[in-house]
Amino acid sequence: MKFNEYQYVRPNVDETKNAIIALTEKINKAASFEEVDQAIQEFIQIDNEYGSMATLVSIRNSINTQDEFYEKEQEFFDTVGPELSEYFQNFNLAIYNSKFRTELVNKYGSKLFREIEIELKTFKPEIIEDLQLENKLTTKYDKLKASAQIEFDGKVLPLPGLSIYLQDKDRNVRKSAEDAVCSFYQEHEQEFDEIYDELVKIRTKIAKKLGFENFVELGYYRMGRTDYDSTMVAAYREQIRKHVVPLAEKIVKFQSERIGINDLKSYDLGLTYLNGNPMPLGTTEDKVNNAKKMYHELSKETGEFFDFMTEHELFDLDSKKGKAGGGYCTYIPKWRSPFIFSNFNNTAGDIDVLTHEAGHAFQVYSSRDAILPNYLWPTMESCEIHSMSMEFFTYPWMHLFFNDVDKRIYAHLTDSITFLPYGVTVDEFQHVVYSKPEMTPEERKTAWREIERKYTPYKVYENDLLERGGWWYRQGHIFSSPFYYIDYTLAQVCAHQFFVKDMENHEAAWADYHHLCKLGGSKTFLELLKEANLENPFEDGSLTKTMKTLEKWIDNFDKSKLN
Ligand code: ZN
Repeated sequence: MKFNEYQYVRPNVDETKNAIIALTEKINKAASFEEVDQAIQEFIQIDNEYGSMATLVSIRNSINTQDEFYEKEQEFFDTVGPELSEYFQNFNLAIYNSKFRTELVNKYGSKLFREIEIELKTFKPEIIEDLQLENKLTTKYDKLKASAQIEFDGKVLPLPGLSIYLQDKDRNVRKSAEDAVCSFYQEHEQEFDEIYDELVKIRTKIAKKLGFENFVELGYYRMGRTDYDSTMVAAYREQIRKHVVPLAEKIVKFQSERIGINDLKSYDLGLTYLNGNPMPLGTTEDKVNNAKKMYHELSKETGEFFDFMTEHELFDLDSKKGKAGGGYCTYIPKWRSPFIFSNFNNTAGDIDVLTHEAGHAFQVYSSRDAILPNYLWPTMESCEIHSMSMEFFTYPWMHLFFNDVDKRIYAHLTDSITFLPYGVTVDEFQHVVYSKPEMTPEERKTAWREIERKYTPYKVYENDLLERGGWWYRQGHIFSSPFYYIDYTLAQVCAHQFFVKDMENHEAAWADYHHLCKLGGSKTFLELLKEANLENPFEDGSLTKTMKTLEKWIDNFDKSKLN
């Protein structure tokens, strides 16, 4: 069966509700572990069916936002979802309080119980109204950003439309593009400050209602983290400052030499190569066929996986009218199918989809026999290890996708390094903000600029707003997903370890990676690292060896190929 033939039937909410209530009852009254287990198995069936229908609707709605049928069905799930979550939670609570916990832990592992504990810590009915306000504020931020109509180059452009000018060969164009972007944020400075101020205050209020001192700890629980805290993350950021910032400075220095500018400013950072960025080869069909060849050569299991994806047509890659923006990977349990959604636009980003999103898809394909639906995917920092590492494992096949393969690989690797200091800047800022929620908007901006100076000293601004500390308005995660950002950096340093191991011993590196993918979400971040023979980034000295190898790789790279 192909994706288009996967049949959608709207779930009957009352039936679903009653079935969950009955199963909850059954667990509460169970006289034996077998009865509890039977109820869990029945629950998984219901959860799979409901979840598959919800996912099918969300995919089809994003493929064509103008399809009225799926738009209506999406509204249906948006309404019943919150209604049902209470019943799902009660079911979990029954498991949590079951007197057969020992047997349950033996069969399902202890992670399930830690997950339920987090659920209980992060939610009480008393905060529903506050959560609604929080959602409203993040929507307000998205809308404000999407409202941008910037006059530039004789056109009226939304914010993403300016990105091509930020990479222009002409320095004046780059500078005026940066100023044009900033003028939008400066015009709305007060609104951005107010939205964020309200968000910080409402999140702090929620945290206090739930019994936390401030939002920081709650923010970690919301991300499902059970085995690391803000002190460990602070030590990790310090390692980035010590071992990555100097390397990032060196990369930027090479860049300024390459593009012939000796007083580098922030608006020069977008120009990687004087002769333009590497462009992908061929049509979408060519790209998919080359990806098929690549995954068959990479390993038996990736070959099987990619055949499964193509046979069942589990991709929607091309950008087209009415399609939602962005890209994602999701999973439909009923048909045991990952699904990849993207908007190809004939830039290097297309190939990132075929490596990064395919990495996510390969992981969930590998863990689809998970004993519980909760164990299909791990927490976010672990999820990104699968995707970011796949980007490195596929380096030897990049000639299938690019003429300028050296330029592609050099830019990819160095971007992955210079990303780290920026990533920890975003993270440290949020720790400062939520530990002192009473700070004024001006104090927040000053704090941002100070942190920026510490981690990205090569960002020299001429623009007034940026110099006062207003860069972060554009970083959506700061508004809508507090404390998420560090996850990308944690995954990146783990992916770097896989890259280094892959150069040393491909078989061993691949075996560890595949093992990690198969484990899915059955373990926590630190447990998964151990299983995959990865060094724990929170431990002092863990970054030293990898960064030294990467530095050598950069030093030895034949830079005459990078023009
Ligand atoms: Zn990802």
